[in-house]
Amino acid sequence: MNLTDVFYRSNQTETVGIRLTEAEFEELAAGVRGLEDVRLKEAAEVTLSLEHTEKGKALIKGFGTMILEGACSRCLEPVPVSLPLDFCRIVYAPEAIPDEEQKEEQQFLTEYELDAKGLILEELCLSVPVKLLCREDCRGICKKCGQNLNQKDCGCDDFVPDIRLAGLMDLFQNSST
Ligand SMILES: [Zn+2]
Ligand SMILES: [Zn+2]
Repeated sequence: MNLTDVFYRSNQTETVGIRLTEAEFEELAAGVRGLEDVRLKEAAEVTLSLEHTEKGKALIKGFGTMILEGACSRCLEPVPVSLPLDFCRIVYAPEAIPDEEQKEEQQFLTEYELDAKGLILEELCLSVPVKLLCREDCRGICKKCGQNLNQKDCGCDDFVPDIRLAGLMDLFQNSST
């Protein structure tokens, strides 16, 4: 999507619907930090509005909802996550970029070409929870026999019924990876 008009025509506003399919998401999200373990559960539609603000500068607003699915970090069962997207980004034309920092922040923009899906994924990364839980008190799986302890107790010796302790274990696991 070319932003030349939005950057240089006053009163220029464009609205576009960006559709992301499950397969596309899988391809785009591969290797993106924070999105490795989630998949898109149904095709998503995100609306982007592009507004001229001043010469060489534009405002991009995006909104939509994405239905993702990831694994519970304790019991590994699939957990659906409904993520509302609602963001605003200021972008600059190549000759109007104020500093290096801004350049870093608009990597989804190559010259005047906007990689709309790249931008959406970047925004999504920021809102995907680092740790998913199927429920707050998920009891996880038995480390000895692999039984999902939400379904039934397995009776193994090292069964730890204290959920506060289970939370602490998660913490240790996360810090060692
Ligand atoms: Zn769980
Ligand atoms: Zn067990």
